[in-house]
Amino acid sequence: MDIKKEVDNMHYTGPVFRPPPEASTPLLEITYGCSWNRCSFCTMYAGQKFGISPMEHIKEDLQELSRYYPKNLKRIFVVNGDAFALQAHRLLDIADLIHEYFPEIECITCYASIRNIKPKTTEDLKKLRSAGYNEFYMGIETAYDPALKQMRKGYSQADEYEQLKKLEDAGITYNAIIMLGVAGRGNYRSNASETINLLNRFKPHMVLPMSTSVHDNTPLKEMCDSQEFIVVSEREMLNEELLYLENLEMDDDCMYFSGHIYNLSRISQSFKYQDEMVQKLKERIEEIDKAHPGLLDTVLSRGHL
Ligand code: SF4
Repeated sequence: MDIKKEVDNMHYTGPVFRPPPEASTPLLEITYGCSWNRCSFCTMYAGQKFGISPMEHIKEDLQELSRYYPKNLKRIFVVNGDAFALQAHRLLDIADLIHEYFPEIECITCYASIRNIKPKTTEDLKKLRSAGYNEFYMGIETAYDPALKQMRKGYSQADEYEQLKKLEDAGITYNAIIMLGVAGRGNYRSNASETINLLNRFKPHMVLPMSTSVHDNTPLKEMCDSQEFIVVSEREMLNEELLYLENLEMDDDCMYFSGHIYNLSRISQSFKYQDEMVQKLKERIEEIDKAHPGLLDTVLSRGHL
């Protein structure tokens, strides 16, 4: 496939992100930027205004994709930061258009937020599920209220329970992105415990942990400078990850994907091998301690995404 040509002709506006497991999935722009763009730690769409792609552009991009992907394509990822922010009727129109070009599409996946579900009724969600929307990547980050507030996620733990119940009732599955170290120094047990309870109640299709990283020109950096937020050490983040691995009660086919570039552990397996993953993480901690004494008690810097 001539990727270069494809990208040249597509309407990709500003930064485009997709989760690592979707590396082979075609990306269709239906929004650009992020409708929220306020999370304390996030720099993904800094300087990029949120916008809704014109239907004409979506149609042109589908025409373009249909030149490079087979007609029996089963999966597509609609971008950008929270594409599910669009109103239900527009998402349904887009699904109709996608099916015109790829009639066998089974899954239209995207980034989605708890905030995006709130204005939609369970009936809306059921229609969206029938149209193919499924397997959302949700930046849950945490279910610990003080951290949700500090990270300015725009929702509370109660909202998470309410909105994930609607998703469950509609039969839509989700992948949970969680942030290690998001509650700041000394709080990892409370953070993990609240988040584990949420995930054990609403079992995701995949769990994707990501280490918290503080970047310049973010509200989180200001909180660090004023000591309102104390960054956790690498050891604390790995201990938090261990709590998740030991206490999550997922189905055997649920995947744990810790391959994000920000993570030190990089363990990715299904929960069928949960004990093995716990063992691997413990060994990884021992190995780092042996090879680089003291390193885990520091904070490593991580580049921008
Ligand atoms: S973390 Fe997600 S929802 Fe929050 S500002 Fe960044 S892209 Fe938007």
